[in-house]
Amino acid sequence: MMTEVSSMEISSAQEKKCKTAVENTCEMCHDYFPAPLLCIHLISRRIYREMARDPSTRILVVCELCHKAIHTLPVTVKKQRAMVARRTFFIRRDLRRVLGYKPAPYVASDSVDIAQVYEEYFDRCPIGAYRMGG
Ligand SMILES: [Zn+2]
Ligand SMILES: [Zn+2]
Repeated sequence: MMTEVSSMEISSAQEKKCKTAVENTCEMCHDYFPAPLLCIHLISRRIYREMARDPSTRILVVCELCHKAIHTLPVTVKKQRAMVARRTFFIRRDLRRVLGYKPAPYVASDSVDIAQVYEEYFDRCPIGAYRMGG
């Protein structure tokens, strides 16, 4: 298993909570996995400065197959960031909580349109829609 978690100082307790926050669902293929089969992938931060601010935008919770794919295809940082952007309000909130990030109250970009949130929440693709070929 690829381990890169140590470089961002995520404790094993936090790792476990991150997996719970995404409901043990791989953020790439959207399938359910038992926690031990999920990994925390660290998104490269060399391109996006704002990622340093919110640690939740620097990680993806993915199954081992998808994790391998991210590193071997590779999946571009842009695409990884798009996966982060597609998170529901609740997952984002829970991940931030787990990683100890509190958005500053004056940051407008953190305010969320509730209608948009629910649309996002119910507009999740059916399980397997993102499954990779094979
Ligand atoms: Zn997956
Ligand atoms: Zn990785």
